Amino acid sequence: MTTVTFNRERHIKYFLRCLKTFLPSFYTSNDSNRMLLAFFTVAGLDLLGVLQSKTTPEERQGYIEWIYHCQVPTGGFRAFTGTDFGADNRTPENEAWDPANVPSTFFALVVLIILGDDLSRVKRTECLQWLPLMQRDNGSFGEVLGPEGNIEGGGDLRFCCFAAGTRYILRGKGETDVDGTRDINVENLAAFVQACQAYDGGMGEAPFCEAHCTAAVDSLYLAAGHTYCAMGALSFLSRMSKNQRPPPVLLPGAKEFESLIRWLVSRQTAELGEAEESDEEDSPEADEIQKPPTADEEFELNAGLAGLPSIAPPTEDSLRYAGFNGRCNKYADTCYSFWNMATLAMMDRLPLIDAARNRQYLLEKTQHIIGGFGKGVGEPPDLLHSYFGMVALAFQGEEGLDGVDPALCISHRAVRHLESLPWWGERA
Ligand SMILES: [Zn+2]
Repeated sequence: MTTVTFNRERHIKYFLRCLKTFLPSFYTSNDSNRMLLAFFTVAGLDLLGVLQSKTTPEERQGYIEWIYHCQVPTGGFRAFTGTDFGADNRTPENEAWDPANVPSTFFALVVLIILGDDLSRVKRTECLQWLPLMQRDNGSFGEVLGPEGNIEGGGDLRFCCFAAGTRYILRGKGETDVDGTRDINVENLAAFVQACQAYDGGMGEAPFCEAHCTAAVDSLYLAAGHTYCAMGALSFLSRMSKNQRPPPVLLPGAKEFESLIRWLVSRQTAELGEAEESDEEDSPEADEIQKPPTADEEFELNAGLAGLPSIAPPTEDSLRYAGFNGRCNKYADTCYSFWNMATLAMMDRLPLIDAARNRQYLLEKTQHIIGGFGKGVGEPPDLLHSYFGMVALAFQGEEGLDGVDPALCISHRAVRHLESLPWWGERA
């Protein structure tokens, strides 16, 4: 294999550019996901170990103030300041138009932790009172509270994970009540997550759905891996209830556990999607693929087979790079290295992957010359793939990157800060 290097200096420049100058125009449609963009940017610099040295204390305080500006008076955080019409104008009748949002609340808390804030200004009790209001009877969570307290949006595994993560951060390792606040229904949440496991071992977005590690990317935070989110939610729950037997999918030897491991490991692929891109425009073969027969044509199986394009067998060279996909029959994508590896890390089975070929794929195929990582081969870098590309490499012990907690998705340094907070010390 050729020697490839992790271009740390270029990645530092990339993340600093994203932090301190304007983002490219294609982020415009993600204005309402600013909290997530803030997470990728700040967490990226932290993982590279330069957040303290490349930003001033005043700048970091400014970021902290912006996050608190996104806190909703009744608990929880909004994803951006655009819906804020001012605390003075807020009434019980109109507050549904400026709601706290479940994913943004998790990301706001995590960014505050990375920035070294002590969370003393977080409306902790209010936030913990709001969380159970977001849970549906089937155990899943919505995204926001709409008019008349209706739970709106969400309903899939992503929201289960962010709700369980928020509860974990704000309650600490113990399950005791905070100021008498009613807890979420943990049993219903765990049951919903486990019911999402599909016949092949992977997790669908909801019960009886196809297993995958991704979702439609119509906004950045929707690009969450459902399987990752399922195991994230269960990991947060089981970290907090040490005396209870973990669910079967977290229990080595159980059918649920082993079938998920097999599904995750099978996501590693040498199909990178390079050939198809060049085929699309200049190859005449695409037109020659035989159309399926119409009802009045006699179908001959052998003739149909002869019309299929030939697929070249793998060569030693093509097997040098092996990233991960998110579903069967999909090409590799940088972020799936993260979704799959983080899940395997939570299940303590990370050594089962081919780390060398994954590293080769990330560093030679999707690491970008200007810093950051693209989604696929030859694609421009974006914040999501840049952060997740680095975290995947961090799981493999890449030099120049701090270790990462797979469920919280932040550096071990930031986790230590979380665990130093008062309500963590009391129960640790
Ligand atoms: Zn991706």
